[in-house]
Formats: sequence, C-alpha cells, structure tokens
Amino acid sequence: MRKKRSVPAESVVRPTSTSQKAVYLHRRAIVASALALLLAGSGLLGFLLGKGHEADAAAAPAPAGVTGVAAELAKQEDRCAAVEQINLQQELAAAQKEADELADSLNRQQDEIARQQEEMENLEETILDALMANLTEKTISRSGPTVASYAEKAKELLSLSRKVKSFEKTPEASEIDLTDYKAAISRQLANIPTLKPIPGKLDGYGYRIHPIYHYRHFHPAVDMGAPTGTPIKAAGGGTVIGAGYNSSAGRFVKINHGNGFITAYFHCSKLYVQAGDRVDKGEVIAAVGNTGTSTTPHLHFEVTFYGSPVNPRNIIME
Ligand SMILES: [Zn+2]
Repeated sequence: MRKKRSVPAESVVRPTSTSQKAVYLHRRAIVASALALLLAGSGLLGFLLGKGHEADAAAAPAPAGVTGVAAELAKQEDRCAAVEQINLQQELAAAQKEADELADSLNRQQDEIARQQEEMENLEETILDALMANLTEKTISRSGPTVASYAEKAKELLSLSRKVKSFEKTPEASEIDLTDYKAAISRQLANIPTLKPIPGKLDGYGYRIHPIYHYRHFHPAVDMGAPTGTPIKAAGGGTVIGAGYNSSAGRFVKINHGNGFITAYFHCSKLYVQAGDRVDKGEVIAAVGNTGTSTTPHLHFEVTFYGSPVNPRNIIME
C-alpha cells in the first residue's frame, strides 16, 4: 500500500502566507491571551456567578420571607393540629377514665343501696317482729279481764297508734311498711268500746235524784245532751244485739263488743241498724232524740262489763 504523504500536511498546517505566519508566530500569545481571557472570563464568570449567587442570596429575603412565614404558619398549624389531636385524645382518655370511675362509683353506690335495702328489710322485719311481739305480750300479759286492764291496754294501743302516725310523717317512714302493725293495733282496739258516741261531757253516772221521779237512785249511764238528730257512733265494733223500742229507753240500740263489753244507746229519734248487724267502731248507728222517759233530747249511754255497769269515763278515751 502506498504511503499517503498528505498525512503530515494534514496533521501540521504550515502557514503559507505572511499573515498566516504572523498568526502562527503569535499563536502562543493568542493561546495565552485566549487562556488569559478564558481565565479572566472564568474569573469574571466566577465573579459574575459569585455576584449572581450573592445577588440571589441578597434577593432571597423578600420572596423567601413570605414563603417562609407561610411555611412557618403551616408548620405551626400542623403543630397546633397535632397538639389539638393530642389534647383531644387526652381529653377523651380523661373523659373515659371519668366515665369509668363514675360507673364504678355508681356500681358501688348501687351495691351500697342494695346492702342498705337488705339491712333495712332485715331491720324492718326485726322491728315488726318486736312490735308484734310487744302487742301479743300486751294481750297475753293483761292481768285478768277487768275494765281497768282493757282501759290500760286501749290507752297503750292508742299511744302506739299516735306514735305510728307521727312516725309516718318522717322520711324514714318510707323505709318500713307498718301496714300490718297498724292493722294489728286497729284490730286490737276495734272491739274495746273506747270511742265517745257523740261530742260532749260524760256526766251523770252514779247515784243521783231521778230527774222525773225525784228519788235517789243509781243511774248506770251518762246522759249527754245534744240536739235531736245528732249522729250517734258505735263506741266499738261488735254485733247489734238489740234495736227497738220500749217505754223507758225509747228507741234504743245495744251492741255486744265481745270480751264482756256491751254498750247501750237510749232515747234515740232514729235507728240505722237492726239486731244481728255487725258494726264497726265509729259507725253511725242512730240519731239523738227524746224518746222514752226523757225530758230533753239527749243520749243515755250505758256500758256494761259482764253485766255490771261501768262508768263510761273509765273506758271512753277517744
Ligand atoms: Zn239516762
């Protein structure tokens, strides 16, 4: 293969003209200048770049300030939201804890109420047992069938009845059911003739001068003056054993109360019951009048105990 001679010519360009020679001669200077220029340029560039950076840095505060504040605000908002979230969680936790505590407390209170109720019921039972036993004891321990013993018993029962009534006005009354106890008291009091049949004084029992026949005699009852028609109440519960008329008693009613007690109501204007009727204490049985040996409207009220006259003052107390 033939060597190409053009290769060196191509690799080293030799200046042919003067100007070309000058260029060639000054080539190094030109390169140096170019280098210098380049360096200067780069320096300038660096300077310019540096300036540019400085300018950027200097120009930054204005736009960066606004966005910075916004960012800061956003950050703070995030922080606030986070804090709120935490607060909310804490509040929820606290509320939950409070609710749990309240529930516990309620449970404890309910337990306590249940316990107290049970205690109260036991107490009620104990009290009622004691009260009933006391009533029974009173019934049993009475010293023989005398008017005085019945009167004493009736007095105690009435006192108990009053105590129960005043107790029932207290808040504690709702804690104990005294229905049975009251019923027991009423039952025991019912047939003892303790109720005044009409209002007025219990006068006229005993020896006196007869108002019509003017002789000294024993008057086995009280005479209670009252207008005709005044309602007469049964002194105690019992059975009507007489309701009618005779010349001395006029219209009359007799009630057997049991336990030896009989009461009689004379000179009535009207009778509302008949023999065989069962009457309650306080039930209206007749009306005051002036029938029989009577000079003025009044009630002749008689009490007997196993056939013997009793001063109504000794048993009437209501
Ligand atoms: Zn009389």
